[in-house]
Amino acid sequence: MERRVFGPVPSRRLGQSLGINNIPYKICTYSCIYCQVGKAIKMQVNRQEFYKPHELAEEVKVLLRDIQDNNQYPDYITVVPDGEPTLDIHLGELIDELKIFKIPIAIITNASLIHLPDVQKDLLKTSFVSVKVDAVNVETWKKINKCHKKLNLNDIKKGIQFFAKQFKGKLVTETMLVDGINDSHNEFEGIAGFIETFNPDTAYISIPTRPPAFKGVLPANEVAVTAAYNIFRQHIAKVELLTGYEGNAFSSTGNFREDILSITAVHPMREDAVLELMHKTGDQKNLLDALLEENLLEKIQYGGHYYYLRKFKK
Ligand code: SF4
Repeated sequence: MERRVFGPVPSRRLGQSLGINNIPYKICTYSCIYCQVGKAIKMQVNRQEFYKPHELAEEVKVLLRDIQDNNQYPDYITVVPDGEPTLDIHLGELIDELKIFKIPIAIITNASLIHLPDVQKDLLKTSFVSVKVDAVNVETWKKINKCHKKLNLNDIKKGIQFFAKQFKGKLVTETMLVDGINDSHNEFEGIAGFIETFNPDTAYISIPTRPPAFKGVLPANEVAVTAAYNIFRQHIAKVELLTGYEGNAFSSTGNFREDILSITAVHPMREDAVLELMHKTGDQKNLLDALLEENLLEKIQYGGHYYYLRKFKK
């Protein structure tokens, strides 16, 4: 069976993050044009069971035991699947199971289901929640997030505001800026004005730094990113840019094949990071070539670098 727990991987916001992929393949409520894990294979809004929480927790236990370098012990256990984590109907139970490891738990969600009381209840159990706010007007939201047709942007906005009032952990937002889509002054004013209403700990502005799902999707340029930063700062106390590369500090369990397949399922890796990981396990490049030949990985060029991505059968 495919490993559903990976890392720890370096995270720009969370230090070393041990990731849990609690959703199979790419099941999401959105099909964002910049998604780094490819186009949604299945779009849905109904929560359902995917995996048994105690099985995922057991995988975490094994991975924590196998971490060789104490410096790479995770700062967070992060539920960050290649889909939307709140689609998992057992998310609350999973968080309860993970609490025994005494490591803070983070969830990276697109917030599309945050208006649902059961989703709020689950998210309230965590220490860190990141919600996606790429657009606050319906037209742009549909363009950038390619949302499921049953979703309603007003419900989502109200859901985020309601959740923020109750959450005692660290709430952050992430806004991905895409060239020609949500990179105008009007969009920035609208998004910043909305984020101001619920006062998150930090509003992060990011650009696609990894290969996007849809061809022709480009990061907003430096002028637009700077303008966004300045406008956000007029509304929000703490604003940070997440526009740099996160580094190559991917930890190794000693099994290169398993490590690279589980990491690239949710996190495309730049070639230099892959080679560094391979170096840690002493494996040869032909192992990487074999994974490409087996169609388990693909190699693509983006922004002047080569990346390796996990290939899934549709
Ligand atoms: S970026 Fe996140 S929310 Fe958007 S399609 Fe990909 S997995 Fe879903």
